Amino acid sequence: MTHMYRAGSIEVICGPMFSGKTEELIRLVKRAQIGKQRVQIFKPAIDIRYDKEDVVSHSSQSIKAEPVESAVDILLRLKDSTRVVAIDEVQFFDDSVITVVKKLAARGYRVICAGLDLDYKGQPFGPISSLLALATEVKKLKAVCTVCGNEATRSQRLSTIETRVLLGETDHYEARCLGHYYYDEDSDQALLPLEEEMGPIANSLGC
Ligand code: ADP
Ligand code: MG
Repeated sequence: MTHMYRAGSIEVICGPMFSGKTEELIRLVKRAQIGKQRVQIFKPAIDIRYDKEDVVSHSSQSIKAEPVESAVDILLRLKDSTRVVAIDEVQFFDDSVITVVKKLAARGYRVICAGLDLDYKGQPFGPISSLLALATEVKKLKAVCTVCGNEATRSQRLSTIETRVLLGETDHYEARCLGHYYYDEDSDQALLPLEEEMGPIANSLGC
């Protein structure tokens, strides 16, 4: 047989910040490597928070990755022997990543994408809605709410109050449950003043 048939797949790992998306991506990559499958890991070049060339989780697990400027670069950098393509922080790519992922899966690659499902405004993040619809498997992970300890599905931006304290610091985020997540579209305010936020809302929820 000259051509081995390989069914492709699109696995999407999503959830809020700190939900373990990167840890899960690393876990799946390591398992594929144990199975002697050649894996290439990509991340958007803009994501240099921890390391330029590594994918690093909040629990400091890390794995080597290839930073790419655009999704098309993934196709250009593919090696012949590669069977699994993993992409972290997939929400930062533009819609061209949708075409790239579809092409890879159609060619028989196992594609694993990890990324935020929602931005701090609570809106679907970039290409993620389409990727979730196209997925052959979806994992929706949860973090722990920093206010009450319940399961968190939202990423709370803290910049509104934090910018006054942490001059020059970039944005800060926390994982929150729906009850402790706040964003007001009209004022573009991500957070109520601290007393109000922790007071009545927390009290009314009994925590
Ligand atoms: P993601 O890629 O989804 O942002 P990571 O895989 O980088 O998540 O990190 C997950 C890890 O973050 C957890 O295993 C835990 O050690 C740590 N962590 C820090 N804050 C939280 C939180 N509020 N909820 C859950 N995990 C947290
Ligand atoms: Mg991550």
